[in-house]
Parts: sequence; C-alpha cells; structure tokens
Amino acid sequence: MRRAIAPLFALVILVLPFTGLLSDYWVALFDYIGIASLVAIGLVLLTGVGGMTSFGQAAFVGFGAYATAVVTIDTGLSPWLSLPVSVAVTGIAALLIGAITVRLSGHYLPLGTIAWGISFYYLFGNISWLGAHDGMSGIPPLHIGSHALIAPEEFFVVVWIVVVIAVVATQNLLRGRMGRAVRALRQGVHAAEAFGVYTPSTKLKVFVYAAMLAGVAGWLYAHFQRSVSPGPFGIIPGTEYLLMAVLGGAGRVYGAILGATAIIVLRDQLQSVLPLIVGSAGNYEIIVFGAILVLILRLASDGIWPILFGPQAAPRTVAPPPDAAPPQRPRPAADAVLVEADAVRKEFGGLVAVNDVSFAVPAGRIVGLIGPNGAGKSTTFNLVTGVLPLTAGRISFEGRPLSHHRPQQMAALGLGRTFQHAEIVPDMSVIENVALGAHLRGHAGMMRAMAGLDRAEETVLLDIARQQLARVGLSDVATVPAGSLALGQLRLVEVARALALDPILVLLDEPAAGLRVGEKKALAKLLRELRAEGISILLVEHDMDFVMNLADHLVVLDFGTKIAEGRAGDVKNDPKVIEAYLGGVA
Ligand code: ADP
Ligand code: MG
Repeated sequence: MRRAIAPLFALVILVLPFTGLLSDYWVALFDYIGIASLVAIGLVLLTGVGGMTSFGQAAFVGFGAYATAVVTIDTGLSPWLSLPVSVAVTGIAALLIGAITVRLSGHYLPLGTIAWGISFYYLFGNISWLGAHDGMSGIPPLHIGSHALIAPEEFFVVVWIVVVIAVVATQNLLRGRMGRAVRALRQGVHAAEAFGVYTPSTKLKVFVYAAMLAGVAGWLYAHFQRSVSPGPFGIIPGTEYLLMAVLGGAGRVYGAILGATAIIVLRDQLQSVLPLIVGSAGNYEIIVFGAILVLILRLASDGIWPILFGPQAAPRTVAPPPDAAPPQRPRPAADAVLVEADAVRKEFGGLVAVNDVSFAVPAGRIVGLIGPNGAGKSTTFNLVTGVLPLTAGRISFEGRPLSHHRPQQMAALGLGRTFQHAEIVPDMSVIENVALGAHLRGHAGMMRAMAGLDRAEETVLLDIARQQLARVGLSDVATVPAGSLALGQLRLVEVARALALDPILVLLDEPAAGLRVGEKKALAKLLRELRAEGISILLVEHDMDFVMNLADHLVVLDFGTKIAEGRAGDVKNDPKVIEAYLGGVA
C-alpha cells in the first residue's frame, strides 16, 4: 500500500492537470493551494511541532517574491537562477528577525510576529524601487528551454513537485533526532536541554527553515502571478497561513496540504455561492468563512488530519547491524569522585534556598539527598545539573571544576536526569521520548536528516531506546503516545530516557513520589542494578523509607542547610534529622 503511494502521487501530479478532468479554473486554484501548502508546511514545523506561533509568515513569502521580482526584472537573470536568491534573501531576513523573535516567550512571540508581519507590509508598500503600493509587474515566467510555463496546468506540475520535495524533506527532518528535539521544545526547554539540545539555535534553525519554505512559495507566486504587490504579504494572509496549518492538523505535514486546500476552496466557494443566496452587497463571505473556521476548530481542536487518519504512528524499530552501536562512555575508576559540591549556595532574592552545602557523589554509589519539603533539594539538584547558576561555591565533575556549566554540557559529560514533574512529550510515542535521551549519541544535522541520510544512525538511536525501555519493563507500551501512560510508568520512561544517554551519573528528583509499593520496589531494584554496573546515582527524595534501604550515603538538608550526613542507619537516629522531619510534619 505505502509503496503504491509515490507512483500514484507522481501520476496525479504529472497527468491529472492535462486530462481535462479539472477545469482550468480548478487547476489554477490548485496552483495557489500548492503555493500556500509550502508556507503551511513550514508553519506545521514552526507552530504545530515547535510551538512557536507565527502570524507573520506571509512577510517571508513577500521576501521571496520581491527578491526574485527585482533580480529577474532588473538583471534579466533566469527565474530558475533567481530561486537561490529568493531563498537566501528570505533565509537571511529570517535569521535576523528570528535571532530576536525566537527568544521571546509566551504571548510575546506571536505578538512579535504580528508586529513584523505588519511592518513588512508597509515596508514593501513604501519602497519606491519595489514599486510602492502598486508593486512590480513584468516578472518573467518560468521556462523550459524557450517554452514559457504560463499555462496553469504546466505550472501545476512545477508547484506540486516542489510541494512533494518539501513534504519529503520535512517528514524526514521530523522523524530524526532534530525532529524529536523540536517536538520536545513545545513542552518547554527543560527536557530538551537536559539531553544536550541547544534550544535557541534549534528554534532559530526551525524558524529559518519555515521562512525559506515561505520564500520558495513567494518565488513560485511571483513567477505564476507575474506581478507582485504588498497585499498578499500582510498580516491577514499571514493569519490565513497559520489557520491552514492549525486547521489541517497542527504538527502533521500532510495536514498542511489539507488545511491549505480546505481554506482556499472554502473561501473561493463562499465567494461564488454566497452572493447568489444573500445578494451581492457586502462581504458576507468573510464573516461566514470565519464562523465556519471557528466551528471546525471547536469540533476538532487538533485539526482535521488526525480525525480522518488517526494519531501519528510510532517509528518501527529494526535491529541495527551488530557493530553499529556507538561506543560506551568509559566508566570512571572505582575510587573516583564524580560530583563534588563545595559550599554551594543559591539565593533567590533574600531567600537562601541552599546555604553553603558540601557533599560528594563517589563512583558506583547511590547518594540520597533528603529533607522535608522546601529544604532545598530540588534547588541543589538544579545547581548540579546546571539548570540554575550558583550564587557561590564550586562544583566539580570527575575532578574538573565546572564554571557556568549548562545542562547541555552536563549531558555531554554523562549526566542523565529525571524530572520531579514528568517532562515528556505527550503526543510523541514512548520510544521516541526515550530516544530523545540518545540525542548526543547521534550526529546527523538538519541537511543530512532532510535528505534521509540519517536512517542508519536513526536505527541505532531507536534501538538504544528500545533496549532501555525493555530494561525498565515498558516494552509493551513503546509505541503508544507517552501522554496515555500512568504516572508510575512515566517515571520509568524518564529513567529509560536518562539511561539512553549512556550516563555515568544519574540524578533522580523524587522518583518514588506517587508510585505504588510494587512500583517502588521495582524502581529500587533497577537502581541497584545500575549501581552494580558502575553508574553513580544521586537520588533526591522526600520518602525516607525508599532511600533508607537503597542509599549508600545520605545527605540531609533542612531550610537549605546540611544538618547531617552519613550512613543511612546513623542518619536515621540523628536527633536533628528526627526533629527536622517531625517538625516538618507538625
Ligand atoms: P525541596 O525540593 O527540598 O522541596 P526546593 O529546592 O524546591 O525544596 O525549594 C527550596 C526553597 O527555595 C523553598 O523555600 C522554595 O520556595 C524556594 N525556591 C525554589 N525555587 C525557587 C525560585 N525559582 N524562586 C524563588 N524561590 C524558590
Ligand atoms: Mg523538590
């Protein structure tokens, strides 16, 4: 079935427009749908997958269209040769705009895109050498040899070949390690950063990629329309592109084509049908159009594609060649000290959350960091993992002092972690969530992924994820969306993800919270096995019973200060510890 899709599609693209089955009018409409699909595919990646909402994508179509208009009219360059110019101009514009925009958080990001969406519309309209509001005409058509591709059916072939290339490249990108990183970004940056993803640059890459697709759309538009003016590049078309991506199925590449088709056909049909019903006065179609869209989004908040075709399938795992596995990280010597915290301190305003605390995690040991709620355990955890900067003190890793360390660096050094509140991507399969942990064990960049040249590496990464899932006993849920798991299972998914990094140190923040007795026992058994393999573990835990039988060494915090430290049995009977715990309860 799948094998039949590609030739079938090729047949449709190359033959359908010439069969006469579609009138010229519909062929032309599908030319515009193809152009819009390119923009919407970029938005699927940017907004649907990456969570960065952009209303300003039409401006990038404008950059692509005006760039090729200027170049081909003024220099007489062939339109084919001006395609790289359009893409480069759009890419550079996106790099500059994106460098500022993608760092905006929350509502400021979409507001930012609205701002530049509006600005560029007026900019295009005010630059006299771009023809100001009248725009530019006399743009040459695409051509093959001396034959100009002016007829809509000929243009159809060009447009849809470009769409197919964009679909394949984007699908390939989403399937690989960068795709997982981008998908993780929508939930926030913490999980991605903890496994070595540099989030600002990843966001910027996605932003530029989406803009370049819009630039290609602009190039096609200019040579189909043969004239450009600011109108199609303003904020209203920008909003329509966003609607296409969201309506089709945010996050689904084919959804972009569906959304573009739905919106363009709907608007077009309303324009011709409504005047017959309500008379020609007034632009009622815009109102009805809006109402229908709101209704659809209300009924299908994830877009139409998932309703028609179900959730995204998990990737299949196949056994990689026996020698393909990346080498294991060297284990530290038996007497090494992995983490040494020396008088680490963290202040939040006036509050001293961690007050000059020192402790060490020796190789192959389980160290428990315990204390009542608010004692500063999570803050200490975040200092070690590089999530929070130290106010004072020093942390060294395998004897090397760390300064201004970041989570990505710690991941590269072999620190795997879990989160107190599960940080997973709910609509991504369990195995792909775990594969995010193996991010740094692969190397394929964006280009290689787009070209599908990362398949061998992906096989290895997915196999690592499969193995780690098996190890925590979750093989049977590998292909379900992670969001459908119970809390106890999510904890184990996070452990598997941390193990996929091939860690020498694992940090767990309250892993037993919310687990049933049986689940706690299974977790304790797993942690002992890891210790036996030479992996060190720093366990932050509120639950005394869980750590007592597990940790080789305990560090007790209360109000940010270390009040006791030592073997579990000794610490348990320390009056200060009893006081802190009982006091905490009272
Ligand atoms: P624990 O994990 O032991 O329950 P935390 O490390 O989360 O404790 O918190 C220690 C103290 O620091 C608490 O008083 C908490 O309110 C405070 N705190 C933690 N994070 C922040 C923050 N980002 N900003 C301000 N105060 C914080
Ligand atoms: Mg905590």
